[in-house]
Amino acid sequence: MSATIIDGKAFAATIRDKVAGHVARLSEEHGITPGLAVVLVGEDPASQVYVRSKGKQTVEAGMSSYEHKLEEDTSEADLLALIDRLNNDPSVHGILVQLPLPRHIDEDLVINSIDPVKDVDGFHISNVGLLGTGQKSMVPCTPLGCLMMLRAHLGNLSGLDAVVIGRSNIVGKPMAQLLLGDSCTVTIAHSRTRDIADVVRRADIVVAAVGRPEMVPGDWIKPGATVIDVGINRIERDGRNVLVGDVDFASAGKVAGAITPVPGGVGPMTIACLLANTVTACCRVNGLAEPE
Ligand code: NDP
Repeated sequence: MSATIIDGKAFAATIRDKVAGHVARLSEEHGITPGLAVVLVGEDPASQVYVRSKGKQTVEAGMSSYEHKLEEDTSEADLLALIDRLNNDPSVHGILVQLPLPRHIDEDLVINSIDPVKDVDGFHISNVGLLGTGQKSMVPCTPLGCLMMLRAHLGNLSGLDAVVIGRSNIVGKPMAQLLLGDSCTVTIAHSRTRDIADVVRRADIVVAAVGRPEMVPGDWIKPGATVIDVGINRIERDGRNVLVGDVDFASAGKVAGAITPVPGGVGPMTIACLLANTVTACCRVNGLAEPE
C-alpha cells in the first residue's frame, strides 16, 4: 500500500464538531434548535440501521431528532399527509425520507412533495435544477461528502480529469455536477460505457458509485490518482461477512496517490453532511448567516 488513506471517519468527526458548535450558537444567540425529521416506511434492515444512526448523531450534535416509523403497507396518501405536516412544522428544519420506499409508493411524487428548503437530501427536483444550473441549493449528502474530501486532499480541483462511475440520481449525477462546478473535466461512466478501463485510466480523480464489489482493479487506476469509493457491498469472505467497496482496495492502493477505505471513508461523511445540511436549512429559513 503506497496510497495515502483518506480517513473519512476522522474527517466526519471534525464536521460533526463544527455542526455542534453552530447548533450551540443558534441556541444561545437565537433560541433556535435545528430539527431533523426522518421518515422510514417498512422494515428494511439496512434502512433501519441508517435511520438509527442518523437519529443518534442528530441528537449528539445538539439537534432535535424526530423519527417517524410507518408500516410497510402505509398508503401513499398517508405518507404525503405526514410530509405536509412536517413541511408546516416550524420545529422541523430538515426532512429526510429514507429510500427505497415500498413499491406501491411513487418515490418521485413523495420526494417532490417535500418543501425544497427542508429537503436536506437534495433530491427534490428544484434542488436538482438549482445544482445543475450552479445556483444555491441543498446538495445531496454523499456527493457533498466526497467533494469535501477531494478538496481537503487535493486543494483546487480546477482542470483535473474526473471520472464518476455510476449515473444514479442520488450519487453519480450530482457528483458529476459538483465536480463540474469545481471546473474538473468530467466523464460519467456507466454499465454501457465501452472500454471502461481506458476511460478510468485517464482520470486524476475516480469516484466509484456502482454497487459491484471490488469492480475497479488497481490496473484501471492512473498512478497517483485520487480514488473515492462510494460503494458499500456486503460479501462473504473466508466464512465471514465483510463490507467492501466498488474498488479493489488492495491493488488500487498500490497505484493510487490517495484512496478512501470501506468502511471508514465516504459512509461516515454522508451522515455528517446530512447534519450540516440540516443546520444550513435552519439558517436559511430563519434568515441567518449559513455555516461555510
Ligand atoms: P444505483 O444502483 O442506483 O446505480 C449504480 C450505477 O452503477 C448505475 O448508473 C449503473 O449503470 C452503474 N453500473 C452498474 N454496473 C456497472 C458496470 N459493470 N460498469 C459500470 N457501471 C455500472 O446505485 P447508487 O448510486 O444508489 O449506489 C452506488 C453504490 O454506492 C452502492 O454500493 C451503494 O450502496 C453505495 N452508496 C453509498 C452511500 C454512502 O453513504 N457511502 C450512499 C449511497 C449509495 P446504469 O445506469 O447503466 O445501469
